[in-house]
Amino acid sequence: MINRRQWLRALGLVLAASVRPRAAQGLSTSSEEPNSPSAKNAPLPLAEYEPKSMLHAQETQVERAAFPVIDVHTHISVSAKSQNGVGLASERTYLGQPDELLSVMDRKNIRAMVNLTGGYDQGLADVITNYDKAYPGRFYSFTEPCYEKFLDPNYPRIQADEIERAHRAGAKGLKILKTLGLYLRENITSGKLVKIDNPRFDPMWDACGRLNMPVAIHVSDPIAFFRPTDRFNERYEELNNHPDWSFYDHDFPSNAELLEARNRVFARHPKTQFLVLHVGNFSENLDNVSENLDRFPNMTVDIAARIGELGRQPRRSRRFFDQYQDRILFGTDATPHGDEFPQQVFNDKLYEIYFRFLETEDEYFDYAPAKVPPQGRWRIYGIGLPESILQKVYNQNAARLLQITL
Ligand SMILES: [Zn+2]
Repeated sequence: MINRRQWLRALGLVLAASVRPRAAQGLSTSSEEPNSPSAKNAPLPLAEYEPKSMLHAQETQVERAAFPVIDVHTHISVSAKSQNGVGLASERTYLGQPDELLSVMDRKNIRAMVNLTGGYDQGLADVITNYDKAYPGRFYSFTEPCYEKFLDPNYPRIQADEIERAHRAGAKGLKILKTLGLYLRENITSGKLVKIDNPRFDPMWDACGRLNMPVAIHVSDPIAFFRPTDRFNERYEELNNHPDWSFYDHDFPSNAELLEARNRVFARHPKTQFLVLHVGNFSENLDNVSENLDRFPNMTVDIAARIGELGRQPRRSRRFFDQYQDRILFGTDATPHGDEFPQQVFNDKLYEIYFRFLETEDEYFDYAPAKVPPQGRWRIYGIGLPESILQKVYNQNAARLLQITL
C-alpha cells in the first residue's frame, strides 16, 4: 500500500506528464512562448467584454403571452421622500402615465398591473383615483406601512387602523419592501435595525388576514449581496455598479437570520396570506423555497426579477413549477423608465423575455434586455410550461389571491 505523500507525488507526476505533450504542441501558456499571439494583446477590462454567442440556437419570438397576464409585481409610483432607505412620505412620484403603460400592456396581453408601492393615506388615495378607478380591471394598488409614525407609542394600533383605511380606499394588499429587516431602525433612520418579527407589527399582519389583503413581502436579497464584492462574487459587476446594494459586513444580519425572522411571522399569523416576492427571496436555493412552501400553507411566491436564477437551473425550475403550480404568480418588478436596472425596465422586450422563458424550450438566451447580463454573466434556458400551468401562473393564481375576476 502507498502512503498519502507517495500518492500525491504520483498524482503530481501524472499531471506533469499530461501537460508536457500539450506544450510540445504549442498549447502552453504565453509565459512559456512569448511570441504567441495572445501575449501581444493588452488585458481587456471586464466592463468592455461583450462576447457574442456563436451558438446556433432556436430563437422564438413570443410577442404576446399565451393567456392574459396579471403582473403582480410592478412599481408605477414610489415614495416622493426617503432617507437611509426608509420611505417617509405619503406623496408619490409617478414613474409612468396610464396611457404609455396601457399601450405596452395591450401589445403584450397584460390584462392588469399590480402597483405594489402605492403608499398610504392621501398618496394612496390619489394613486387609486388616477389608476385603479380610472381604468377598472387594468391597475390594482397595494398600500405600504407608514414608517414615519413608527415612534408613536400607539404605532401598532395606528398601523392596523391604516390598513383598514387603505382597504376602504380600495387597496388590494400590503407591500413590505426590504426596508423592514435591512433599513428601518429603532429611531427610524438611526439606531439598531428593527427585526422583521418585531411584535409592533403584529396587529398590522392580523388586520391584513382579517381583511383578506395579501401581504407582498420582500425580505433579504440575492445571497451574493451578503458576500464580499470581490473576484469570487458571481454578481461582482452588479455590486460594483451599485455598492449600496451590498449587505456584507456592517451591522447587517445574515440572509439566514432575515429569513428565519420572516418565517416566524408566517408561523405566528397563519390566517394572513404572504406573497413572498422574488421566488420566496431565495431563488438560488429552490429546495429551501420548497421546504418553506410545504411548511407554510399561507405562502405563495412570484418570479419577479429572478428569471436569471430560475433560467440557469431549468430542470430544477421545471420541477418546481410542476410541484407548486398553484402557488407561483407571474411578476416582473417592472419599473417604467427604470433603465438603470435592465432586468426590470418596463418595456415590450422585458415581457417577451419572460414569456420566452415560461413558454419555450429555447436555449441560452439573455434574461434581461441589456448588452451585458446585469445580474451575473450567464444566460438562461426556457422551461416550456404546458398550457394548464401557464394559465395558472399567468392569471389564475393571482386572480384567486387578489379576489378579482378577469
Ligand atoms: Zn419590487
